[in-house]
Amino acid sequence: MINFNIPPYVGKELDYVKQAIESHKICGDGAFTKKCNEWLESRFDAEKVMLTTSGSTALDMAFELCELKQGDEVILPSYTFSSTANAAVLCGARLVFVDIRPDTMNIDEKKIEAAITDRTKVICCVHYAGVACEMDTIMDIATRHGLKVIEDAAQAVTSKYKGRYLGTIGDFGCYSFHETKNFSMGEGGALVINNREYNEKAEILREKGTNRAKFFRGQVDKYTWVDFGDSYLPSELNAAYLWAQLESADKIEKDRMETWNYYNEQLQDLAASGKVELPFLPEYCEHNAHMYYMKCRDLQERTALIDYCKKRGVMLVFHYIPLHSAPAGYKFGRFAGEDIYTTRESERLVRLPLYYGLTNTDRKKVVDTIKGFFDK
Ligand SMILES: *Cc1c(COP(=O)(O)O)cnc(C)c1O
Repeated sequence: MINFNIPPYVGKELDYVKQAIESHKICGDGAFTKKCNEWLESRFDAEKVMLTTSGSTALDMAFELCELKQGDEVILPSYTFSSTANAAVLCGARLVFVDIRPDTMNIDEKKIEAAITDRTKVICCVHYAGVACEMDTIMDIATRHGLKVIEDAAQAVTSKYKGRYLGTIGDFGCYSFHETKNFSMGEGGALVINNREYNEKAEILREKGTNRAKFFRGQVDKYTWVDFGDSYLPSELNAAYLWAQLESADKIEKDRMETWNYYNEQLQDLAASGKVELPFLPEYCEHNAHMYYMKCRDLQERTALIDYCKKRGVMLVFHYIPLHSAPAGYKFGRFAGEDIYTTRESERLVRLPLYYGLTNTDRKKVVDTIKGFFDK
């Protein structure tokens, strides 16, 4: 059986976890967390990065830092993971879903402005499959309307838009290091803060509402409860695992890219004969090989393809059921304008196995099995 995903493991993880244990520091913000934060900051030229317990809680933090009030509106795509929406709901916001572009599956930047009302406070864009949204347009809209921008870059660690790393362009960026993402720590994520005015507030929010971080820097002589907060810092055990991955980030990405390119080359003839559509990469984007997907004709064909491959030991998976058509989507939001592409494109999309260490034999089997389905 070729799994859809196997969590990345490069070899040094156990060593580092052991080091954390032997240093008698397994709670948060120890040496490994610091190394990871600093690596992310310098690699992405980011103002401030803080590891969190998940991509979801990085989003929670970003929305909390935007200080929304009950009934404020957040613009986001409906084609995304529930976490993007939950974070806004947690702050009492109403969700306003905007249609996606069929080529990148990202929010259609041309449809955002029509969805803005006098209650709109935030645009949350999702870089699907690690391919960038049209950030120049989105940032321009946000500036003109006085809105904050949160980048859900959960899938987009190391991807770029016009030479800039995703997550560092909006006010806040949110990364995920879940086991299904390119670099992992089991469960974990990071918040990127691109406006230093928020650094201290974020530290307080992340550390149970205390000014503990300031205390450890020697800037105050005792630490106390200064504002609302929660606990968003991951254990050192998880950070140690992630450190091994970040040290090998280039190796992991190169390996994933080889699989991505292999699929993309091998499936060209199916695309040329009009049987499937392959991913589109805008010129200004450098992607991170997070995901390889293709699109079937319709839902029925996709279901048949997934069944066919499963019977032959190849796991393909589909992706999000659009949030606006889910029970919580009705409860917490509305679709602005017409759903032309969100439902239609999401029903056709299927993801291929893609993980660090996928062998040549397995890559070939995936392609051959898919071709077998379309040739029959
Ligand atoms: C994975 C993912 C998340 C959530 O990340 P977790 O670390 O699993 O909490 C949020 N948004 C998107 C688009 C994701 O792909």
